[in-house]
Amino acid sequence: MDSSQFTAEPSSTFMVDVIIAGCGPTGAMLAAELRLHGVRVLVLEKETEPVSFVRIVGLHIRSLELMAMRGLLDRILEHGRQRPAAGFFAAISKPAPKGLDSAHAYLVGIPQPVIVQLLEDHAIQLGAQVRRGCAVADFEQDDEGVTVKLADGEQLRARYLVGCDGGRSTVRKLLGVGFPGEPSRTETLMGEMEVGVPQGEIAATVTEISKTHRPFWLRPFGKGVYSVVVPAAGISDRSEPPTLKDFQQQLRTIAGTDFGVHSPRWLSRFGDATRLAERYRVGRVLLAGDAAHIHPPIGGQGLNLGVQDAFNLGWKLAGQIRGWAPEPLLDTYQAERHPVAEDVLDNTRAQMELLSDEPGPQAVRRLLTELMDFDEVNRYLIEKIAAIDIRYDFGAGPDLLGRRLRDVDVKQGNLYDQLHRGRGLVLDRTERLTVEGWSDRVDLVSDPTAALDVPAILLRPDGYVAWIGEHQQDLDDHLARWFGRPLTDGPSMPS
Ligand SMILES: Cc1cc2nc3c(=O)[nH]c(=O)nc-3n(C[C@H](O)[C@H](O)[C@H](O)COP(=O)(O)OP(=O)(O)OC[C@H]3O[C@@H](n4cnc5c(N)ncnc54)[C@H](O)[C@@H]3O)c2cc1C
Repeated sequence: MDSSQFTAEPSSTFMVDVIIAGCGPTGAMLAAELRLHGVRVLVLEKETEPVSFVRIVGLHIRSLELMAMRGLLDRILEHGRQRPAAGFFAAISKPAPKGLDSAHAYLVGIPQPVIVQLLEDHAIQLGAQVRRGCAVADFEQDDEGVTVKLADGEQLRARYLVGCDGGRSTVRKLLGVGFPGEPSRTETLMGEMEVGVPQGEIAATVTEISKTHRPFWLRPFGKGVYSVVVPAAGISDRSEPPTLKDFQQQLRTIAGTDFGVHSPRWLSRFGDATRLAERYRVGRVLLAGDAAHIHPPIGGQGLNLGVQDAFNLGWKLAGQIRGWAPEPLLDTYQAERHPVAEDVLDNTRAQMELLSDEPGPQAVRRLLTELMDFDEVNRYLIEKIAAIDIRYDFGAGPDLLGRRLRDVDVKQGNLYDQLHRGRGLVLDRTERLTVEGWSDRVDLVSDPTAALDVPAILLRPDGYVAWIGEHQQDLDDHLARWFGRPLTDGPSMPS
């Protein structure tokens, strides 16, 4: 960064508290989470229009739980298709494991543009500003804030900048944060188009070819349109979308026919690179979603991971800006989320090996397929992909500490319904506890009949259990650990 290019005075008034680069699922979710705490947010999106191509993505259990916690699940279910929580580890076909501990133990398939639009609308309803056609081109940070420069030269100033600008993140590159990992070894063409032969003919050929070439499919997508996925001829720099000719050539090479494909609706390509940012935060600039981690789409985890990053970061960054966050809180974002992404990268590496046509990996796949007949094994793998196995390190304590809490019935209705405002929550069966002093940040639900087998818990705004106990002093210590000084200690200073 050449600081002579920046004309805005570092001390000039902040236009907003947070600028988010990128209005994909991660950026939109983060904007909404910040707005729940009254933080002024501007989302800058380089594309002038929302993406047109309809990639169906799977929302897994933990993401569905998060949506329920913010009152968004009904809207998602209206637009998505529910499927059993099964068959997504390395595409090994098995029934859903028994006893998945969630009120939302299923998968929802939903077009990515629909989920992005729902999240963007939600953020805007909460008061976020979204500006399209604005690409972040450069930035400079100082002790007080970040000056962001757009591609057209306009300069904007905020306290923090978050790069949610996807796998080729400009923000990450400008920060100079390393993105180590493995480059793409394979590339896949994906698109929607019409075909020139009857469905019966296609089905027979596709069944045969997909035994030896993965991924490979031509699936009817409604109104005479087919979803077509075929391995690409090689690795490109992916700066340009593929052409219809690329699809025709690859179909002919692999299947011996191009099925008369024509009239494409959209064409795209994706690789299988696996990379993880070395740091998620440098001063006042943070990274989330694909900007921080990329991996092959097997198991359908990328969007889920990004939305969950946003959920983890939102309340912490809000607390920092509102002035109540204890000093290390914002740094727990990287401490908690980096290992989670590391684990997702590893499980996609393992899944990709299991898709290999080589005899060794094929033998391991057969063995794992047998092992998954044991419900414990099947559940372990599905819980991993569905991200309900996560346990953050909050120190020594019962197993539930650091884990998410499933939705439970409380006398006010469902517990998750009490989390719509994105605040902390104490669920108290003793009816003796109070959150006085933190009542601007934390709610209290007293219910001796709540389905908990401990006296009381403190839930963070992202639904993870931050304390288990029964004594007020112990609770107060933990409220201070996560939510800063009580109100009675005087006003906090924004930072
Ligand atoms: C074939 C395929 C299938 C997939 N299936 C699934 C699935 O089933 N489940 C799942 O969870 N994930 C899936 N994924 C992964 C998922 O699509 C991504 O992980 C997800 O889109 C990441 O969201 P994001 O918001 O972090 O980044 P993106 O969706 O990439 O959004 C980044 C945004 O930033 C904008 N931007 C970029 N640069 C700038 C800039 N300089 N200034 C301003 N804006 C900028 C972009 O235009 C874009 O809108 C799949 C991916 C592929 C390729």
